[in-house]
Amino acid sequence: MADIDIAIIGAGVVGLAIAKELSEKYENIVVLERHNSFGQETSSRNSEVIHSGIHYPLGSLKTNLCVEGNRMLYDICEKNDIGYKKLGKFIVAIDEEEIGVLETLKQRGEENGVDGLVFHEPTDIKKIEPYVNAKLAIYSPNSGIIDSHGLMKYFADAAKSKGVLMVYNSEVTDINKENFGFKFKVNSSDGTTEEFTTKILINSAGLYSDKIAEMAGIDENGYKLHPCKGDYFSWNKKFLHHLIYPIPEKLSIGIHAGLDLNHDIKFGPNAYFVDEIDYGVESGKEEFYNSIRKYLPTIDLNDLSPAMSGVRAKLQTQNEDFRDFVISHESERGLTGLINLIGIESPGLTASPAIAKYVSEMIDTIYHNL
Ligand SMILES: Cc1cc2nc3c(=O)[nH]c(=O)nc-3n(C[C@H](O)[C@H](O)[C@H](O)COP(=O)(O)OP(=O)(O)OC[C@H]3O[C@@H](n4cnc5c(N)ncnc54)[C@H](O)[C@@H]3O)c2cc1C
Repeated sequence: MADIDIAIIGAGVVGLAIAKELSEKYENIVVLERHNSFGQETSSRNSEVIHSGIHYPLGSLKTNLCVEGNRMLYDICEKNDIGYKKLGKFIVAIDEEEIGVLETLKQRGEENGVDGLVFHEPTDIKKIEPYVNAKLAIYSPNSGIIDSHGLMKYFADAAKSKGVLMVYNSEVTDINKENFGFKFKVNSSDGTTEEFTTKILINSAGLYSDKIAEMAGIDENGYKLHPCKGDYFSWNKKFLHHLIYPIPEKLSIGIHAGLDLNHDIKFGPNAYFVDEIDYGVESGKEEFYNSIRKYLPTIDLNDLSPAMSGVRAKLQTQNEDFRDFVISHESERGLTGLINLIGIESPGLTASPAIAKYVSEMIDTIYHNL
């Protein structure tokens, strides 16, 4: 018999959302996290934007779980007193070529099921956001911002209140398939190593999820992550009321103007691949200034200061156009009971409650077939 029924590796927003969702139906659930608290990695190093689902291909997990997660998140925030603002977002085109891209984006958004998208002409934009330069803009009313720490705390507290055990300072270092499920080793920060067994193992280890899959015996190139860093610069002005996005780039949705709940403004993230995870801001502010001034011409280079950075768990390489989230029950590889979540980059925060529901349905099927 296994010690644990369901073990979840990683207490980022995705692991916590899954723990909360599963705690409503199942017992004997443990979350293992190597840091001393939840949300110490990507889940606290992002733009905190509730995306609407415009940017991703029709039918992809990124689209479907983002559109569903968007609706779920507003409801969760409203009912549980989690900070959020449904600010709305403008995606701006600054020339004729970009207007063409904008038209494609709006059509894609509508096909994806995003409600309320409308075009705004320059005269309207100037009235709403006087500092923004645009030849045309899409307005997305369902985009917003969220207190991501508040969301994670809500997921963690709700899971704990239903009996989920949060085990911090505990790093999973080795996994072996057994008849009943999995045996795994955990290194604690006090230097001890313990071995546990679980029927179901959920790999929600963010930037390290490819390593966890490897530990479980999946040596697949398609699961290899390519960490892709994004820096942010803050702006010492409070001149904006909405999220302002440029036309998306290949590796990211562009250096945008993001607001926090105090209406402080941060620009970012840019996108560059890195070999090591290091959260120092490495980019120069000239790169940011040159991107931003296209849609915010009054910006002054001296008004920008390095703020923070985050690292995307990217499956996509420089040569690929799109990679979807991997959320996979690995039964076909002989690893029944292992669920891998790999490449959960943006819109992973928005999608987190919908991802949790999706994983929970997978687990219902596993239990049904046991
Ligand atoms: C720059 C940037 C901007 C973004 N902006 C947005 C946005 O505006 N909106 C949006 O929806 N999404 C955004 N995202 C994406 C979003 O932040 C992520 O999708 C989400 O945070 C992923 O959560 P996670 O739980 O999968 O990963 P993480 O938060 O990284 O959590 C994984 C956890 O696993 C733990 N772990 C790893 N290995 C082990 C091990 N061996 N044993 C135990 N624990 C382990 C880690 O310590 C970590 O706590 C952004 C991402 C980046 C990088």
